[in-house]
Amino acid sequence: MKNIVIVGGGAAGMFAGIMLAQKGYKPIIIEKNDRLGKKLFITGKGRCNLTNECTTEDLLKNIVTNSKFMCSAFYGFDSYAAINFFEGLGLKLKTERGNRVFPVSDHSSDVISVLTTKLKRLNVSIMLETEVLGIDVGINEESKVVKGVRIRHKNNKEEYIATADVVVATGGVSYPRTGSTGDGIKWAKEMGLSVSEPKPALVPMVVRENFCKELMGLSLKNISVTYVAKVKNKDKKVYSDFGEMLFTHFGVSGPVILSASSHLGKYLSEDLRLYIDLKPGLTREQLNDRLLRDFSVNINKQFRNSLGDLLPKKLIPVIIDISGIDQYKKVNEITKEERMRLIESLKNLELHIIGFRDFAEAIITQGGVSVKEINPKNMESKTIKGLRFVGEVIDVDALTGGFNLQIAWSTAAALE
Ligand SMILES: Cc1cc2nc3c(=O)[nH]c(=O)nc-3n(C[C@H](O)[C@H](O)[C@H](O)COP(=O)(O)OP(=O)(O)OC[C@H]3O[C@@H](n4cnc5c(N)ncnc54)[C@H](O)[C@@H]3O)c2cc1C
Repeated sequence: MKNIVIVGGGAAGMFAGIMLAQKGYKPIIIEKNDRLGKKLFITGKGRCNLTNECTTEDLLKNIVTNSKFMCSAFYGFDSYAAINFFEGLGLKLKTERGNRVFPVSDHSSDVISVLTTKLKRLNVSIMLETEVLGIDVGINEESKVVKGVRIRHKNNKEEYIATADVVVATGGVSYPRTGSTGDGIKWAKEMGLSVSEPKPALVPMVVRENFCKELMGLSLKNISVTYVAKVKNKDKKVYSDFGEMLFTHFGVSGPVILSASSHLGKYLSEDLRLYIDLKPGLTREQLNDRLLRDFSVNINKQFRNSLGDLLPKKLIPVIIDISGIDQYKKVNEITKEERMRLIESLKNLELHIIGFRDFAEAIITQGGVSVKEINPKNMESKTIKGLRFVGEVIDVDALTGGFNLQIAWSTAAALE
């Protein structure tokens, strides 16, 4: 049996260990943490959304960067294969809203546990608390080949493992406290491979407006968002979505914001603005009728006491401020022009995006080892024999919904 070193014991590394052992290799997983799957443990808010039950075409549609590269791996091992695989290991699964697949137990630890048990059954060697310091590459008959890896044990003792086969499964740069510190991307660069600079994605956004602090913790459901940027000196709609968002002390987060971040990095320096429609189910005319109805009930009240049925409590002073209407004004004194301004504030609440939060809060990394360097059929480097990449270290990323873990499973399953 041929030795193969897998660097990183996250989702892709563990899965690679199982797949390669089943294909006749003798894998050694080297992980710097004291346990496997540290990031996997926190996925899906601790419930692990391990895939999305959908067709391969839909898997591909949810890849944001380099979806073409994933064709072969997804057709070879799709979400149904992942579901069958985990159920075959005795893990009961359920499918929730948006085809998101979770363990019935709602515990990510159960996903880690079935993978670990399978690795042990297949006699895969696992070295924990051992850091890979670098990959040694030499030249054989004119072509570059892997020679070995340098490792450092917990007691600081360094060692060299000679091997002709290495799988880099070191993940991206996001949530570095889980161990994903971008080592694989750094090594790829050092080995002369092209790399797309890592950027945080599926990440909250920082806004200029101070009122977000006052709204901290407020979650809005059923709102629509539209992002506008200055492109060639003209305002251009660059993204829109419908769903749920959250205000934080620095700006905005929640599902529609995180998804948007994967598409909008390139517009950050282009006067990027977010417009929230707080009442997307109502046209301006319908909203006007609704306001007139609410006002007629509250006719003798102060304006600030008339919006309770329309808006969450926290939002009322902010919207009043933006509308420019005196909060103490009697409702029956509000003019049509003022009502129109209020409608505008409700349908088009403007926020200026001044940045994204950093890697510490990014669900995934955009960027990584260029797909031009990797054979999509078996994840091997096109120029360095014996070198392979799987999972988030590759310049591929997807939206939320279980697609990023499916990238980890499918790329690992493609290894030969
Ligand atoms: C909070 C959060 C929630 C998420 N939820 C979901 C979800 O529900 N569904 C979904 O599909 N995706 C989710 N993701 C994304 C998903 O977790 C990642 O895409 C996936 O874990 C990538 O797997 P990987 O094995 O490539 O990398 P990682 O899981 O990052 O694993 C890399 C491993 O390599 C090890 N390593 C790195 N460098 C070295 C070295 N030099 N020596 C030894 N070991 C090393 C690290 O310690 C780490 O254990 C979530 C991410 C986060 C941060």
